[in-house]
Amino acid sequence: MDLGLKGKKGIVCAASKGLGRACAMSLAREGVELVITARTASDLERTAEEIRKETGTKVTPVAGDITTDAGRAAALAACPAPDILVNNAGGPPRGDFRDWGREEWINAVNGNMLTPIMLIKAVIDGMIERRFGRIVNITSASVKSPIPELGMSNGARAGLTGFVAGLARQVARHNVVINNILPGPFLTDRLRSGFAEAARTSNRPIDEIVAERMKGNPAGRAGDPAEFGDACAFLCSAKVSFIVGHNLLLDGGAFNSSIA
Ligand code: NAP
Repeated sequence: MDLGLKGKKGIVCAASKGLGRACAMSLAREGVELVITARTASDLERTAEEIRKETGTKVTPVAGDITTDAGRAAALAACPAPDILVNNAGGPPRGDFRDWGREEWINAVNGNMLTPIMLIKAVIDGMIERRFGRIVNITSASVKSPIPELGMSNGARAGLTGFVAGLARQVARHNVVINNILPGPFLTDRLRSGFAEAARTSNRPIDEIVAERMKGNPAGRAGDPAEFGDACAFLCSAKVSFIVGHNLLLDGGAFNSSIA
C-alpha cells in the first residue's frame, strides 16, 4: 500500500535509537523528509547517515534536549512547517513514590506530558491551515496497565493521554489526526540494558534471559522496534484520517482483555 507520504516533512523526536529511530526509518522509507533529534550529537549523526543511506531520503539531525525550550526551538527552526510530528523522549526513572519530591515530578511531567503538548501547540495551527497533519505520541503500555514502580511514567503519560483525547476531536475535521502508540516490551537499548544487568548477575547469556522473560507474552517474544516504526508510519499515512484519538497498544497481546 502506498501510504501517500512522499515529499511530506516530519519531525521525529528522540530518534537516534530505539523506537524513535525505528519510526524515523519507516517514515523515511515512505519518502518523508525528516528532522530527527537526540541529545548525543555523534549517535544522532550516525543514525541520520544510516537512514539516508538506506532510504535516499533527506534527514537533518538536530542535536538537543527536546524537553527544553531551546531543544524544541532548534527542531522547529529546522522544520517549521511539519506535516508529521512524532513525539518521544526518555521515560522517567523507576522507584518508590515516597522518594520522589516536587522536582522529580516536575521533570517527569515536563518530559512526558508538557514537551509533547508544547510541540503540538507549535505545529498544529499550520497543520490545520494546510489541511494535513499527523501526530503520533509514543507513550507506554503503562497508560492502560500501570506498572507500580513506574509511577511517574504512569501519571505523566496519563495526563498527556487525557489532553490528546480532547484535542484530537477538536482538530480531526481539518484532516489533522492525533493518535498515541503504547509500546509494551520492545527490544531497544533501553530494554536490553535491563536484561543485560540480569544476564551479568546470573552469568547467563542475554538471549536466554530475554527468552525467559518473554515466555509469558502471548506472542512468545519481545517486540522488534522495526514493527513499531511501521505501525507509526501507518498512523501517519495520508489514508488515515478516520482513526482519531486512539491508543494503539503494541504488546504482543500481553494486556489481557476482550477489548484491547
Ligand atoms: P532508547 O532505546 O533508550 O532510545 C531513546 C532515544 O531517545 C535515544 O535516541 C536518546 O538519545 C533519545 N532521548 C532520550 N531523552 C531525550 C531527550 N530529553 N531529548 C532528546 N532525545 C532524547 O529508548 P526506547 O526504548 O526507544 O524508549 C522510547 C520511549 O518509549 C521512552 O519514553 C520509554 O520509556 C518508552 N517505552 C519504551 C518501551 C520499550 O519496551 N522499549 C516500553 C514502554 C515505553 P540521547 O540519549 O542521545 O538523547
